[in-house]
Amino acid sequence: MKSFQQLVEEQLAGLRDAQLLRRAREVDGPQDTYLSIGSHRVLCLCSNNYLGLARHPIVAAAARQSLDEEGVGSGASPQISGRMQLHRRAEIGLAAFVGHEAGLMFSSGYACNVGVVQALAGREDLIFSDRLNHASLIDGARLSRARIVIYEHGDPDDLERKLRQHRSTGRGALIVTESLFSMDGDVAPLSDLQRLARSYEVGLVVDEAHALGVLGPEGRGVCAELGVQPDVVVGTLGKAFGVQGAFAVGASSTVELLRNRARSYVFSTAPSPVLSAAALASLRLVRDSESPRQRLRAHWRRLRSSLADLGFRVLPGDTPIIPVLSGTPEQTMRLSQALFARGVFVHGVRPPTVPPGTSRLRVVPMASHSEDDISLALAAFEAVRP
Ligand SMILES: *Cc1c(COP(=O)(O)O)cnc(C)c1O
Repeated sequence: MKSFQQLVEEQLAGLRDAQLLRRAREVDGPQDTYLSIGSHRVLCLCSNNYLGLARHPIVAAAARQSLDEEGVGSGASPQISGRMQLHRRAEIGLAAFVGHEAGLMFSSGYACNVGVVQALAGREDLIFSDRLNHASLIDGARLSRARIVIYEHGDPDDLERKLRQHRSTGRGALIVTESLFSMDGDVAPLSDLQRLARSYEVGLVVDEAHALGVLGPEGRGVCAELGVQPDVVVGTLGKAFGVQGAFAVGASSTVELLRNRARSYVFSTAPSPVLSAAALASLRLVRDSESPRQRLRAHWRRLRSSLADLGFRVLPGDTPIIPVLSGTPEQTMRLSQALFARGVFVHGVRPPTVPPGTSRLRVVPMASHSEDDISLALAAFEAVRP
């Protein structure tokens, strides 16, 4: 048998040799359009703080007031004594925003997806999962012990073939997908998925982590834009809302089941009430002001077309997640470092976050960028062009 320490060293060496070791840069000061990192001041082009709300004064003031009134901690799981009035208010507000009856709060999107998928499927069931689903959806499916059937990314025909082939072998089934895919920046064919879910009488769970606040009328997501009503929608507060935490919404009965069965909800301390207070303030900003979304859209369209004009291989889409294919993990990290040296922070994404052979730079603008910021970014890309 190998010693524990030996196994640790071997695995680290394996990651290092494959250029897959991750080392986070440490940001000094707040999350903003420009970040201070070490002695550098860099334009941030890799945050999910799409609307620039992470340090918005109105959101911060709501958090500060709640901090004064309620303090920080919730003290226990929501099913013991941790559920506070602010949680309920945030759940009601967020469910209404997304267009569902009820909702429940989780401490993160990761915890939410793991809990939701695990709660809605069991050993005898089937989960039909998009090939590119987020790790948290995959982990939830594994935890449920349901049989997982992977369908090709964004391909309703493949899904239908697999539904037909497998459905008689399960008690029930779920279709699980993101709406706006976090690493590919494309959008799932949600109308087709809903049609299939209805005709095969299976559940539909849609993770709108990156879409809420950004896409759809008043930022209410892709489902709202397409008139699709899944059984459960998951949203996170850590991205466009600029806060932290997450929520799932659906019919009251579904949410009641989640409150009882989602292990990451039942067996975890309720999120801080401060996050609910901040989320409610953020929700009003997201809903009531269209111009940040319009600015964001103008930025992503300009970046997408200009990067393609510069000869970069941009994956298609009309969203703020702009994947630029960049060769091997090593080439990807070299490009990312060259951009950083020119004052532009773009994250390189490598396996296992994306499939082998598809390493990429993930370029993400924010509403708080100016036209000049985008020009600066494009000049840096032009300079490092391979
Ligand atoms: C970021 C993300 C999550 C996780 O949300 P956190 O609040 O960051 O834990 C879940 N699903 C998708 C698609 C994501 O991109």
